[in-house]
Amino acid sequence: MKASAILLSGGKGLRMGHETPKQYLKIQGQPIALYSFLTLAKHPLIQEVVVVLDEEWEPLFQNFSNENKISIRIAFASPGKRRQDSLHSGLKKVDQTTDLILVHDAARPFIDEKDVTAAIEAAKAHGAATLSTPVKATIRIANESKVAVHTPERDRTFEIQTPQALRFDILLKGFERAIKNNITVTDDVALAELAGHPIRLIDGKEENFKITTRKDLILAEELAKTFFCK
Ligand code: C5P
Repeated sequence: MKASAILLSGGKGLRMGHETPKQYLKIQGQPIALYSFLTLAKHPLIQEVVVVLDEEWEPLFQNFSNENKISIRIAFASPGKRRQDSLHSGLKKVDQTTDLILVHDAARPFIDEKDVTAAIEAAKAHGAATLSTPVKATIRIANESKVAVHTPERDRTFEIQTPQALRFDILLKGFERAIKNNITVTDDVALAELAGHPIRLIDGKEENFKITTRKDLILAEELAKTFFCK
């Protein structure tokens, strides 16, 4: 069983209000994207990592790989307009005989080996799986006039994280359908759904949040002090 990782690092991160895309801002002196890159590149079940990024950032990953003596294949792909376009671009660079694709957001540095193993094992067993956490707030679905029309049961509401892992064949089938029917998806396992395949939710951790705002960056700086010293 071969697993390939795609690290999505091609976003502009405009909500942070910085020139530098958020995934390259530093926490504890190191660019955010490099934390999860190292976790993926050192993972025993991962055979290669394809980083989707603007070309100017390639040397950052190259040098870091050399410094950390990364021995698996590292490749790079250009980002697309939407997240799914970046994923599609990354897929073209993976070993086409791979069995499983694991996708991760570069803006989520707080993953460890166990999270990656859990996603891979669940995808092996069920075809498509994602880390998730229970939602603490009440969620209401509103109509266009902002009138609440539906309240999902809180016990059944989950926030979706990455890593997400899918069998390569399921992902390709999902992409075929998305392209044919011009469908935009907001996460990767949604492509499994398009292929008619259920998505298994597995337990993630709250620490694995996506750094999006300045407040997140302050929190990440604090958390990094202990998380990476484990
Ligand atoms: O925009 P958002 O925070 O949801 O992006 C999640 C991850 O996907 C980020 O790491 C970002 O760099 C990446 N991304 C990408 N290509 C895009 C949009 C987002 O690689 N077109």
